[in-house]
Amino acid sequence: MSEDSTIFEQIAAGEIPARIVHETETILAFLDANPLAPGHTLIIPKEAYTKIGDLPDDVAAELWASAQSLTPTIETAVSADATTVGINNGSAAGQEVPHVHIHIIPRFDDDGGGPIHAVAGTRPELSDSELDDIAANIESADNIWTALGSSPEALAS
Ligand code: 5GP
Repeated sequence: MSEDSTIFEQIAAGEIPARIVHETETILAFLDANPLAPGHTLIIPKEAYTKIGDLPDDVAAELWASAQSLTPTIETAVSADATTVGINNGSAAGQEVPHVHIHIIPRFDDDGGGPIHAVAGTRPELSDSELDDIAANIESADNIWTALGSSPEALAS
């Protein structure tokens, strides 16, 4: 394992212990070492990709399929009322480990937590025309990348 391997690659390689709850050839799920709730689980691709846009399609599909199947299993295992499922996608969003991971955080009635809307800072005041422009920019960029069969991240790598 190279010196700059991520801590999650080291867990996937068995070099650092973790409480593993699910494993395939491509994907690993294990309990977070500093859980926000009982059953707080991280799901990773074994290979390190920093952001979700970097993931190959097949890995992304398997990662999401694991989240979809594990989430109700975790809820049942810890008798949770719900779950918050999220990704800190980049350092400005609070990502500390530069290796894509989905957080599955069990939630309980009256646990004192907030919804996912609480993670961003001050809400921007956006006019209708600004919203129209933003939507049009995203849509046209998406159309271009779809036509090229690529993405900004794929082009950069
Ligand atoms: P991030 O801020 O990158 O989305 O979250 C990283 C998560 O990884 C944190 O919730 C942190 O507790 C967890 N974590 C960091 N190092 C380890 C480790 O060595 N083992 C496990 N199981 N979790 C870790």
